[in-house]
Amino acid sequence: MKTIDQYNFDNKKALIRVDFNVPLNDRYEVTDDTRIKATIPTIQKILMEGGAVILMSHLGRPKGGYEEKYSLKHLVKPLSEVFGRQVKFAEDCIGEQAEKLASQLKPSEILLLENLRFYKEEEKGDVEFAKKLARLGDVYVNDAFGTAHRAHASTAVISQFFKDKVCGYVMQAELDNAKKVLDNVERPYTAIMGGAKISDKILIIERLLDKVDNLLIGGGMSYTFFKAMGGNIGSSLVEADKLDLAKSLIEKAKSKNINLMLPADSVIADAFKNEANQKVADNQHIPDGWMGLDIGPKAIEAFSKVIENSKTVLWNGPMGVFEMPNFAKGTESAAKAVVKATQNGGFSLIGGGDSAAAVNQLGFGDDVSYVSTGGGALLEYMEGKELPGVKALE
Ligand code: AMP
Repeated sequence: MKTIDQYNFDNKKALIRVDFNVPLNDRYEVTDDTRIKATIPTIQKILMEGGAVILMSHLGRPKGGYEEKYSLKHLVKPLSEVFGRQVKFAEDCIGEQAEKLASQLKPSEILLLENLRFYKEEEKGDVEFAKKLARLGDVYVNDAFGTAHRAHASTAVISQFFKDKVCGYVMQAELDNAKKVLDNVERPYTAIMGGAKISDKILIIERLLDKVDNLLIGGGMSYTFFKAMGGNIGSSLVEADKLDLAKSLIEKAKSKNINLMLPADSVIADAFKNEANQKVADNQHIPDGWMGLDIGPKAIEAFSKVIENSKTVLWNGPMGVFEMPNFAKGTESAAKAVVKATQNGGFSLIGGGDSAAAVNQLGFGDDVSYVSTGGGALLEYMEGKELPGVKALE
């Protein structure tokens, strides 16, 4: 795979697939610009060398036509501010206007295309659609690690129409950092898994059982394990069809001598809301009508100790419903422990999605080794799957 450093963009129009799938508020303002900022090095390098930049991305999950709330036009202003120049905008990602704007683009200018997913063809990986996109640039750059696990028109199919195709700095850094928790890791190696569902994370948990020394499981998914062990979990989140799986994971960990840790206690609530009544309970005995929404103080202490003493840490998924301040302490404590491990010389990778949001929201983004921008893509890469977006560049 060719990297961006192996290409000179002088006088070239670079068509870059970026991941600008950013959260917007009711006024269409970007509330977390991590993904935009992440692409600065790639875009700067091209502009500095005298190239022009054409940016394409998806935003949200439109139903296959124009939707105001998903228009990338809302990003024109923040992008223009970040790059100190007026970013041009094509109201359609393909067709006459886009082609005209692209052909008139001068070195060091930036053109942003409208949301790719306003066309159903994008997610279908339509070849004709990809061909139309490809007409816009001389060289293809993929810097969208977050969608590299999808064989979409702009992430994979398009590459066949380019002689020159390279990966951008985000893609490169994501792959390099993911490799650091896959091969030749420093030990002890601790993986922290959390979030709502085990079903999304079965494969990675199974793969991690071949690699880690400690596997810490918190968040909503932990209650399926307690239920599987015969505990009373009240109305906590549970995946009833995953009880056998949970049991077999516990067995597997035992047979491989892996320290699989479940939280000893939980902060439980009598309703799924921040202001609900709350108390601490042991995880095998959650009263009916109550649900676990965060890991408890004993669990925080035990988890923190293991995390702080690790030399490699992979974290995916919050320890509780961190969006509600009253149930964010477990996630915050885990983040603090990861920061400590990093300060002690360990390597820490925060795997995308909600855990990345939590770490950034808590202001720890710069205190860990790497915060991945890709949720699903990182998980699939860690599971050992080939990512279509990466393969297309090879
Ligand atoms: P995931 O996308 O699977 O990583 O799940 C993230 C979501 O899990 C977040 O929105 C959390 O609020 C939610 N979550 C974490 N712990 C719990 C819990 N104990 N009960 C319900 N939801 C939870």
